[in-house]
Amino acid sequence: MLVDTHCHIHDKGCFELPPDETLTHMHENGVDKCIVIGTDPIDSVVARDFALKNAEVWWTYGYHPNDYDGNREKLEQDLKNAASDALKSPKLVAIGEIGLDYHFDGYNRQWQQYLLENMLQIAQNLKLPVSFHIRDAFDDFWPIFDNFHLPTSVLHSFSDNEENLQQGMKRGLYFGVNGLATFAKIPLAPLERIILETDAPFLTPKPFRGTINRPGYVKNIADWAAEYYGVDLDKIAQITTANAEKLFKI
Ligand SMILES: [Zn+2]
Repeated sequence: MLVDTHCHIHDKGCFELPPDETLTHMHENGVDKCIVIGTDPIDSVVARDFALKNAEVWWTYGYHPNDYDGNREKLEQDLKNAASDALKSPKLVAIGEIGLDYHFDGYNRQWQQYLLENMLQIAQNLKLPVSFHIRDAFDDFWPIFDNFHLPTSVLHSFSDNEENLQQGMKRGLYFGVNGLATFAKIPLAPLERIILETDAPFLTPKPFRGTINRPGYVKNIADWAAEYYGVDLDKIAQITTANAEKLFKI
């Protein structure tokens, strides 16, 4: 049994396949659970509603660093609303995706840091793990991370260098491995510290590149990982699923 710990199949704007078909395809491929990831206050509620409708789905409340417009009053109001509603809903398993993304120009770094700190405060208060999205920003990320006390969390879609892999290992973090690893050269954590994800509809793994990614393709990422780590598929499934179940209590 496998788990997709990070996908966006609840979002009709970005994921274009019918949910029923997607979940059937997921089960056909031995993927029995998935976590849909919120990327802003509105999208997170869509993720929640999707999870509440489907037994095999859990959800997260998140705010992607590139989606925040720097409006502090609006953020405060959104988070206040969430505290009295969405954050009390069942099947909420993490805060995220949240983080810092300096990859593209045109996104204010101070706003991103302010948002991240606000979101980490929520994770700390609710004792929820975090699904982090950190891209080209680890130098600013580590000091912020170190200011909070969080349950064991995950660096989703980790694709940075060996040094930051070690920084994450040292802090007890897990690493989300997805289709990227099947076609790009990135440093990988020991098997004991990885969980599998698709980030569907993005980052489609080999051999399906060029098509819409979906949670069933965790099977292909697991096949790839079995070869990379030199173990059989059962062992990959057993370890990554146990990791995911422990992290997210699913
Ligand atoms: Zn994502």
